[in-house]
Amino acid sequence: MKVMKFGGTSVGKPERMHQVAQLITKDNEPKIVVLSALSGTTNALVTISDSLAAHNREAAKQKIDELEAHYRNFILDLVKTEEARKKANAVVTEHFEFLNIILKISFSEALNKDILAQGELMSTKMFSVYLEEAGVNHKLLPALDFMSIDVNEEPQLSVISAKLTQLLKQNSSINLFVTQGYICRNSRGEVDNLKRGGSDYTASLVAAAINATICEIWTDIDGMHNNDPRVVDKTNAIEVLSFDEAAELAYFGAKILHPTCIWPAQQTKVPVKLLNTMQPEAKGTTIEEDAHSKGVKAVAAKDGIIAINIKSSRMLLAYGFLRKVFEVFEKYRTPIDMITTSEVAVSVTIDSNTHLDAIIKELEPFGTVEAETDQTIVSIVGNEIAETQDVLKKLFDSIKDVPVRMVSYGGSRHNISLLVDGKFKKDVLQAINKGVFGL
Ligand code: ASP
Ligand code: MG
Repeated sequence: MKVMKFGGTSVGKPERMHQVAQLITKDNEPKIVVLSALSGTTNALVTISDSLAAHNREAAKQKIDELEAHYRNFILDLVKTEEARKKANAVVTEHFEFLNIILKISFSEALNKDILAQGELMSTKMFSVYLEEAGVNHKLLPALDFMSIDVNEEPQLSVISAKLTQLLKQNSSINLFVTQGYICRNSRGEVDNLKRGGSDYTASLVAAAINATICEIWTDIDGMHNNDPRVVDKTNAIEVLSFDEAAELAYFGAKILHPTCIWPAQQTKVPVKLLNTMQPEAKGTTIEEDAHSKGVKAVAAKDGIIAINIKSSRMLLAYGFLRKVFEVFEKYRTPIDMITTSEVAVSVTIDSNTHLDAIIKELEPFGTVEAETDQTIVSIVGNEIAETQDVLKKLFDSIKDVPVRMVSYGGSRHNISLLVDGKFKKDVLQAINKGVFGL
């Protein structure tokens, strides 16, 4: 059985949905199809929720009406028969009735999660109506019946696997299932989600849960590229990446894949394939256990980084100092990305300013604390890159005109990371493209 996940742009227009139907019916291999919300929907739902939280019901109502009009229009091109249009409109009516009711009740975090779930619920139900009209035998599997997270908001893979296996058994005559990405139930049984962009995570969890032959992630770009195509002109799609390489790239900024999506696939060794809906014949990128080759594969950049430097002569020859520093970050549940130390100072980076003030305040007793915002981590990734001669020389030769704030080398055998001021990101990515990749 295989898993095929289609993102927001792949289902964002009626003709794209038709194309998705073609792609999933090309062969008879049993599959579970995971869909995102139509592009733009989750953002609109976030705006609606934010307006409600700010007691701005009028703004919320206006956005709800705009969104509803979009869906009503969508249906006209999605399905043709009177019967199918009626069914699709009934789906939209049901969900917009809900959105209109929430205008009258008081806002809560649980309600927010309910609002955010509407996008995937509608996209899958509408797609199902279209499949039915097209005579494609299939079944809608509600993600809320099997996808769950625990008290720490971590997916419960074994529970998901048990529930999903049971559901598939009960429907053994069916070989095409459609389900929602992103949404799940939390430990209180309420509707929740796997965070923005979480549909990839759903796909990978489903693939791991049923031990799928492959997990295909269909987007609007032909695989993972060696550099950011939005920033530099010439980039190449990478054919094969190892799970380790892909995890580093996704985490350090390659937007095509959600970073959390690697571990479930890696744990169960289900290959992940990144494919392009607009160019289905293109090879795409396969992510699997074996990297096939050594050396540099790609560079990715992560923006909005904050560098924190703690300088203290008390650190000199002391032990336990770093533990105390790390405990502050642990207390505020703020992950550290990069770290460099000298005998009297330590620099770390974080990617969220949510608890920055509190963190700085608690670090101050340890020494002089400085924070710099708007930094960018540039990560050069490749299997055994640390052993590959020349890479460091080429890298530093290519960026010799840019001030580098931090360097991390040797922590992972597959990654070299630099921290630069965000304003140099473009220059650095271009210089590396030329100097390291020869493009
Ligand atoms: N619709 C959700 C989002 O936009 C989940 C996803 O598409 O991956 O974040
Ligand atoms: Mg996505």
